[in-house]
Amino acid sequence: MKVLITGGAGFIGSNLVRFFNGHSPATEVRVLDDLSTGSIQNLAGLDVQFTHGSILDYDLLKETARGVDAIVHLAAIPSVPRSVAAPRPSHDANSTGTLNVLEAARELGVGHVSVASSSSVYGSNPVLPKSEYDWTRPMSPYGVSKLATEGYCIAYNFSYGMKTLAFRFFNVYGPGQAAGHSYAAVIPKFLEAALAGEDLSVHGDGLQSRDFTYVETVCAVILDAVQNKTSSTDPINLAFGTNTTLLELIESMELHLNEPLKVIHAEQRVGDVRASQSDGRRVREFFPSVVPVSLDEGLAKTIEWFQSELRMKSGN
Ligand code: NAD
Repeated sequence: MKVLITGGAGFIGSNLVRFFNGHSPATEVRVLDDLSTGSIQNLAGLDVQFTHGSILDYDLLKETARGVDAIVHLAAIPSVPRSVAAPRPSHDANSTGTLNVLEAARELGVGHVSVASSSSVYGSNPVLPKSEYDWTRPMSPYGVSKLATEGYCIAYNFSYGMKTLAFRFFNVYGPGQAAGHSYAAVIPKFLEAALAGEDLSVHGDGLQSRDFTYVETVCAVILDAVQNKTSSTDPINLAFGTNTTLLELIESMELHLNEPLKVIHAEQRVGDVRASQSDGRRVREFFPSVVPVSLDEGLAKTIEWFQSELRMKSGN
């Protein structure tokens, strides 16, 4: 089997390449990535054919996708605050970019396309836990661009009979997630601060909650979908129904690190949702063999990775 992973030099993408190498070693893995937020370092030591370029370069995209059996489309500008600061680049990469990927797949007759949408499509819908049949109302340009991503993916299934699948990722975390920039996700941001002995900056009261999913669980679901050409005309929430507040997350980190952490509260961020939790039913129904890694275990592995990176940087 041959698979193209767009955005494969990013956090989830590079974990997915590693997962394919480990669990489906006969699969030829290609990556197309413009390295805007990803890094070639993430692919060091992995068995992958890397092409540096953008999904907005249609000819290059088509060339990279020629002959593959499946595309996993992860390339995007993946940040709510970044989209609020600059909506047009998010729209171009996330909405137009997805259209390009689907068009290339259609022209080349690619057998399966899965795409990364996001829980941010629910936006101002307060219902908890969230099912795929609850209404969507994005609160940020990023959320809109992800609704377009899944909308196009599903429309190509209806319009052209293509086997497609749209995943709504919730808060994915794990080794390799970039910290150290202003748009970093919450777990790497907290861990970086904690390991540097700095205060943890929490936006708002810290009672906002998230359904955290360990990256290997995400990879296991995607591999299963690619291998079985799983297809649906409804999206699938890729989260299993946990509900952890940021303050509970910090408590858990304190237990793992065996030290108290100091929290400071900053302004609530524009576009951030208060609570995010999937009902987890469809993902279990479609992927019954995938057992999600618990937050406790996932956090332990993530902390271990951050500590080893720190040791490497400091030469110990
Ligand atoms: P990431 O930033 O690490 O990965 C995105 C990758 O896409 C990067 O390597 C980047 O260089 C690449 N990219 C961006 N624009 C591109 C373009 N025009 N052409 C080619 N490559 C391009 O982020 P991630 O966390 O790994 O996210 C992967 C996908 O999952 C994204 O689509 C994101 O929106 C979605 N998602 C992630 C989460 C999460 O919790 N991490 C949650 C919801 C959705």
